[in-house]
Amino acid sequence: MYSVLKFGGSSVATATNISRVLDIVGAEVQQGRQVILVSSAISGCTDALLEIAAAETAPERKIELCQTLLERHLAIARRLFTGHEQEAMAPLLQGLFEEMMAAPDAAKVTFGEIFSTRILAEKLRCEHYRTQWLDSRELVVSDDLPESYRRIAAAVGDDAQIFVAPGFIARDSAGTVTTLGRGGSDYSAAIYAAAVGAVSLQIWTDVPGIMTANPKAVSRARTVPQMPYQAALDMARCGAKVLYAPTVAPAMEAGIAIEIKNTFDPANPGTTIQGAPSQESYRWIGVTSLAENDHIRMTLVASGVVPAKEKETILQRLAEALRRGGIQALGEAKECGGLFSFPVSPMLEKRALEVLHREFFETVPLRTVDVYIAGRGAVGTALVEIIAEASDTIRERTGKILRIADVADSRRPTFVDEILAAHPRGAVFVDCTNSHDLYRRYADLLRAGISIVSSNRRSFAVPYVEYAAMHAAAMQSGTFLRYETTVGAALPVLDAIAESANSCDEILSVEAVVSCTLNQILGDYTGEDVSFAALLRQAQEAGLTERDPRVDLGGRDALRKLLILSRVAGIPLEESDVEVEPVVKLSEGTTEEFYADLEAQEPALSLRALKASVKGRRLRFVASLEKDPAAPKGYRASIRVREVEKEHPAYHLRGTENAIILRSAFHPYPLVIEGAGEGAKQAASSILNDILK
Ligand code: ASP
Ligand code: MG
Repeated sequence: MYSVLKFGGSSVATATNISRVLDIVGAEVQQGRQVILVSSAISGCTDALLEIAAAETAPERKIELCQTLLERHLAIARRLFTGHEQEAMAPLLQGLFEEMMAAPDAAKVTFGEIFSTRILAEKLRCEHYRTQWLDSRELVVSDDLPESYRRIAAAVGDDAQIFVAPGFIARDSAGTVTTLGRGGSDYSAAIYAAAVGAVSLQIWTDVPGIMTANPKAVSRARTVPQMPYQAALDMARCGAKVLYAPTVAPAMEAGIAIEIKNTFDPANPGTTIQGAPSQESYRWIGVTSLAENDHIRMTLVASGVVPAKEKETILQRLAEALRRGGIQALGEAKECGGLFSFPVSPMLEKRALEVLHREFFETVPLRTVDVYIAGRGAVGTALVEIIAEASDTIRERTGKILRIADVADSRRPTFVDEILAAHPRGAVFVDCTNSHDLYRRYADLLRAGISIVSSNRRSFAVPYVEYAAMHAAAMQSGTFLRYETTVGAALPVLDAIAESANSCDEILSVEAVVSCTLNQILGDYTGEDVSFAALLRQAQEAGLTERDPRVDLGGRDALRKLLILSRVAGIPLEESDVEVEPVVKLSEGTTEEFYADLEAQEPALSLRALKASVKGRRLRFVASLEKDPAAPKGYRASIRVREVEKEHPAYHLRGTENAIILRSAFHPYPLVIEGAGEGAKQAASSILNDILK
């Protein structure tokens, strides 16, 4: 029982690669097979030989090329052999190179396969395989297959475990040494396989089989595991370089399957070529490109029978895809025998491959996701707009069609019940409200199969047991509960913290400068000119504070954010664990009374700001979490105004900008996430991200 294994140029290009070849061949012998190993020349060798043989190449250049090529072979031999075997290889190779230089120019190109196979045969002999080198120039008759079969069948026998034969080279019936054409080693292998009735024909190359497109041009190309002979032939003829087209016929006639495998990933099953195409239906195989005169011919290859009435639809779909991809073809697309092809300019080759591949091979089944939005404030409104604007892109990139099923404001208390009654499994509920108690319905929604995205931070600053219960409900129902927007608005803060926590990178500290209102006011406050109270009033008038600004000054908002940060980091922090020091003394009474009281605090505040400024520092309102084994939950949490030095990342914050500084065990330098801490549009896009994740 013979197996024919053919290895391409890159599989034999270095000593390391050759050892892979030896392993693969050795495994085949272990299976009890006799192996015919057909090899190409080492990569680049045939091109170099053609240049050496060309009349227009200068004599010095020929010598230079010859020396480089000899040196490459010698280097392989030096790595592959040791001792006197190594010593014997240099004169052997030098002799072959002299023979090549003395040969007629037309025959020079045939030596590449002789160099490579002589090295392989010697190495196999050293490994104690009974090895026999076959001279393909005497066995393969380029224009007479039956004669080739006779000669090969007579040449093999039980004497050897492994026969090593050069690919590519042959002799014509007139007796002249010739080749089977560029890439012809595959064809040599098929001829050997057909001649001996091989049980297996394996083409070992540097890609994992025949792929839906050339993987060098299309990164998402994937292997086609099975295809009929005809489809492989079409792919090869239309430009797929992985297989030389004439290879298919001898294998098909002898009924031998062709396996295309990757030398650099031998366990990958690759592609098996066998059988006839289906007569009832068709399927897409791949997209190829082939240089033709001054243009490139693009082809979409189908296997099987494409019904006449569908051809028109396919041509339209193709034209539409090109139009969307901004590709102007040089001629109309035409169908012939399941091949849909058209010419493009060489400049557009890669782009056209990508566009066709995307249209015909990357189509993910579309899925509609119903989105229910609670809250018609700035964020809810921006979200509705953004979903409408981005729907095409979202569909293209994620295969999801987002449909806004309903939007409700706070005056519709039955909203959640209406949603639950509609049973929209797989839907997403978005909470853009400021509600204190909407979170109580989260678990009901989650259990009904509805995921939740929330920008309402009140929902997560609840007692820890309630927070944990919501997450458990999501986990058990296979839904998600995301709230990236609740801290640092659109900044990817929670993801970063969750990733550190999940990767067991111990969090040492988090400093969050996340109060937009206080960042703005403390940033503007110098202790001179304008009073703190005046700045607060400005902020309030600009809508930057809560209705009662004492809520901001008391650190309530920062506290909620710190609780969320900690919980995402896996620390079950409660409000009572956080030490909060308000920015100013918070007196009772009406807002106006409070403002009056604040003016009285001005001298003390001003002094504090001036003191910091003398030291070259600035005041910042910082919520922080610090590892402390003595603290009940392992971390100390506090919120207060701090002086920060020039080197501190929060020193340079402008206006309402936010910063989160994360220090963890695996990282010598902190991770700093800094940027806009507010903005309805930003928040909406971050919510959209959460919906799509
Ligand atoms: N070495 C030859 C070529 O480069 C044949 C082959 O690799 O299949 O065309
Ligand atoms: Mg090839």
